[in-house]
Amino acid sequence: MNNAELVARDLAVLWHPCTQMKDHEWLPMVPIRRGEGVWLEDFDGNRYLDAISSWWVNLFGHCNPRINAALRGQLDTLEHAILAGFTHEAVVELSERLVQITPAGLDKCFYADNGSSAVEVALKMSFHYWRNRGRSGKTRFITLENSYHGETLGALAVGSVELYRDTYGPLLMDTLRVPSPDCFHREPGESCADYSERLFEPMRRALERHAGETCAVIVEPLVQCAGYMRMYDPIYLRLLREACDHYQVHLIADEIAVGFGRTGTLFACEQAGISPDFLCLSKGLTGGYLPLSVVLTRGGVYDAFYDDYEKLTAFLHSHSYTGNALGCRAALATLDIFRDDDVLAANRKRAALMAELTEPFRDHPNVGEVRQRGMILAIELVRDKASRSPYPWQERRGLHVYRHGLANGVLLRPLGNVVYFMPPYVIDDEQIRRMVEVAWQGILRAVEA
Ligand SMILES: *Cc1c(COP(=O)(O)O)cnc(C)c1O
Repeated sequence: MNNAELVARDLAVLWHPCTQMKDHEWLPMVPIRRGEGVWLEDFDGNRYLDAISSWWVNLFGHCNPRINAALRGQLDTLEHAILAGFTHEAVVELSERLVQITPAGLDKCFYADNGSSAVEVALKMSFHYWRNRGRSGKTRFITLENSYHGETLGALAVGSVELYRDTYGPLLMDTLRVPSPDCFHREPGESCADYSERLFEPMRRALERHAGETCAVIVEPLVQCAGYMRMYDPIYLRLLREACDHYQVHLIADEIAVGFGRTGTLFACEQAGISPDFLCLSKGLTGGYLPLSVVLTRGGVYDAFYDDYEKLTAFLHSHSYTGNALGCRAALATLDIFRDDDVLAANRKRAALMAELTEPFRDHPNVGEVRQRGMILAIELVRDKASRSPYPWQERRGLHVYRHGLANGVLLRPLGNVVYFMPPYVIDDEQIRRMVEVAWQGILRAVEA
């Protein structure tokens, strides 16, 4: 088997995610034969450094020996069992540990099997909580511009990245959208903290006006990942927590992408010292091994559903693979690595090296911003530095970086004109240097194209 053979078979029968399939008439697909650490290897023997953790899921490298061993043990014990009326050791232990390591007050775990479904669970639970408490006038959600919460219709409705959302507009529930505190748009000389604080005012006004009809505010703490890796200051989350309490509206933190150390702390909410009413986790939850997601919430929310069956207050939501035992085991093995190795401290060194190596990029006339939070670093390309005006999207500048990366053994997958790194936490210094250098050469080509 070589690359060409497998690609031909693929194209005969597959339809790939988030892809204009016609692009594959000229853009070669990469069939992966095996993975190890930061590397993915194709059928022709080429290796690619996975600088984006395979869509932000992988934490400790491909085929991690410790996660593999844990999964083998689980495989010989229990692969999956129904979670209604039944339970198993892996899901109980995982829930105990998630309650321990997440922000205070989150003490009940509800499982689903992907990120979008976790968002649906949080939205439905919030609405249903208010209904069970006699507040059935609360039917709406407040969301930030440039946010992303997944692709199912409920999750898409509370998102606002136009590229993914607009086509389906007629199908989506109506949401209240307020400007994002994303610091890219701050005034010259204005700090990110000042800007994010200033941008809280429209949110405060929306809450003041609409609290009576609003179930929850949903945000991606600190980094709007699918929204071009735009970043904002923790002050916004502190103000939002206070205002949500004041106006009696839930706060949903979607840490599906930023959870598990991506922003430098285990959870991004920690940097604001806040605890949400609902915390959505997926992606890194299983170390990038298996689809699993979880929504953590407070005892007080749980209690609003807890009553005699005839009252019909129960949360009658389920997914077939809820609490899958293999997924939970992979998650436990992932948490063991966080517990046994000083991952966050080692990542601070990795993050510092990424910062140092990209520092010179700031001076390039087509680099509008280099921004970083922990293990996420993004370089935004612009047509004109002074006005920060973007390249027309039709030019697909990022694609040049992608192709240059593949030709030079690094998997980069720019979001529009934003080139970013979100590597697995096993990347070493030499690999960081290579990743950054290849990205830089790709950027130089892209802006000259
Ligand atoms: C990826 C993502 C989702 C959706 O998760 P899926 O598993 O792809 O459905 C939701 N929210 C955020 C912030 C994400 O990055």
